[in-house]
Amino acid sequence: MRLKCQKCGYLWDYTGSKDRATCPDCKTKVPVESVSLQDLDEMHEYLYQRQSTLLQRVPRDLSDQLDEIEATMVGLQNETRDRDERLDALESEVAEIKRLLEMIVQQSGRRND
Ligand SMILES: [Zn+2]
Repeated sequence: MRLKCQKCGYLWDYTGSKDRATCPDCKTKVPVESVSLQDLDEMHEYLYQRQSTLLQRVPRDLSDQLDEIEATMVGLQNETRDRDERLDALESEVAEIKRLLEMIVQQSGRRND
């Protein structure tokens, strides 16, 4: 995992499993976050693409709701700056995608009646 020293700005790849790492350059203790911001960004990108694919399969009568969801997601992506906020945002995204999937399942169930 890539860590950055908050004191001297040194970047290095930490492979240990402790909560805090020691900066190889200035020996400052650096907190180790289990999920990096880069991981979160990649997760967000993945979810966003999956959701776009799902959106193409959604019937018209759900589109208003979905527009709202999408606006919320874009808002979250733009507004969130720190890690905790991004984690919350990702959790919301997963919840929305689950809801979306449920709607699609319900919709296709109705069509098959
Ligand atoms: Zn340092």
